[in-house]
Amino acid sequence: MTQPYEYRRTELIEPDWTRFPGWRNVTAAQWESAQWQRVNCVKNIKQLRNVLGDLVGEEFYADLEKDQQEFSTMSMLVPPQMINTMAREGVTTEAFYADPVRRYMIPVASDRLNDWASHPHSSRDSLHEHDMWVAEGLTHRYPTKVLAELLSTCPQYCGHCTRMDLVGNSTPVVEKLKLELKPVERYDAHIAYLKAHPGVRDVVVSGGDVANVPWKNLESYLMSLLAIDTIRDIRLATKALMGLPQHWIQPDVVEGLERVARTARRRGVNLAIHTHVNHANSLTPLVAKAAKTALEVGVRDVRNQGVLMRGVNADSHSLLDLCFALQGEANILPYYFYMCDMIPNSEHWRVAVWQAQQLQHDIMGYLPGYATPRIVCDVPFVGKRWVHMVTEYDREHGISYWTKNYKTSIEESDPEALSKRYAYYDPIDTLPESGQKWWRKEETAA
Ligand code: SF4
Repeated sequence: MTQPYEYRRTELIEPDWTRFPGWRNVTAAQWESAQWQRVNCVKNIKQLRNVLGDLVGEEFYADLEKDQQEFSTMSMLVPPQMINTMAREGVTTEAFYADPVRRYMIPVASDRLNDWASHPHSSRDSLHEHDMWVAEGLTHRYPTKVLAELLSTCPQYCGHCTRMDLVGNSTPVVEKLKLELKPVERYDAHIAYLKAHPGVRDVVVSGGDVANVPWKNLESYLMSLLAIDTIRDIRLATKALMGLPQHWIQPDVVEGLERVARTARRRGVNLAIHTHVNHANSLTPLVAKAAKTALEVGVRDVRNQGVLMRGVNADSHSLLDLCFALQGEANILPYYFYMCDMIPNSEHWRVAVWQAQQLQHDIMGYLPGYATPRIVCDVPFVGKRWVHMVTEYDREHGISYWTKNYKTSIEESDPEALSKRYAYYDPIDTLPESGQKWWRKEETAA
């Protein structure tokens, strides 16, 4: 019987990095070294040229330069591991332009929308995480859980980063917010808050990316968390499990992770790793090895939270290919796909709520139920909602309305917080002409 999606097992492969002129002589030992990967990250156009040689034409670099000057909210930082998953069939200008991983890691100006590159309601800290800080870097948004941002750097910077307000270096377009406390003071403030608030049971330890926290500091932070009886879930957020898997298989990191996992198990705490993979091509045998190693040393689960993006993965085949590769080949649970947040210059990536609902519909029934990801919309002032939970939806103007059942840390004295409806906006180019006309009028009036 023919089905809309035909599953075929596909084994993971490590594309041959010597196809890149800049890495012609790189050995397997160098490739598997976290140190080599970090030193050889691509941070600017000159370094990208050194890797790609003349395989990619000048028009691409001009396009990239324009993007960096006029649109990009993130500075450039791409580990060789990630570049090697781009243009896997052969490096040409066309293949590089079309590549789904390139489209979000190395965005160019021609990717962006000419009209409505930004939504009028987009903002730098679109989820108001900073407003909800209860200590520097500690966001208390949901009743029982917190997000702990330990630092503001990552081993890789993603074009669509929702924390573009804080994460990475400033760009010509965005002057970044700076963490002010010394790391040890910040960590102490988090631990003090958590000790004083026993109703918080779940900590997402994030950043940035925890792979950039020196291991001994991260271990000491995690052990302090584990010493608090009321903390029952700890999730380590690291895209580097995919972007720099070499980090997670270094002996000192593996040994440290084992000590933390053993303590978590003894105390009955669920310790998990959450990573961020957006395309099946990003999964290589080294990524699978990093996930397997974490599980072997006692981490309870490795889960994926991807981001739904046009041009990258926003079609049911790409999502299912990715989920089967995660679940079947890499031992990573496909858990969530977030809709891309309403940050500036992200409209070419974002999808409308109705498109996300359709995608959720189209991926049901293929994967085991527990491994079928939920597609969620992170609604400002609300939090994650499954895309079918929308309360009301004005399709013409692309405005969806959502409700919630808890207060965030900034709504203590707002008597209407639980009865209000909260708005989320579809990208304007996905609206019917009448809706687009309405937004043009609004914009002119403003
Ligand atoms: S790894 Fe996460 S925090 Fe870092 S740039 Fe990417 S999306 Fe942002």
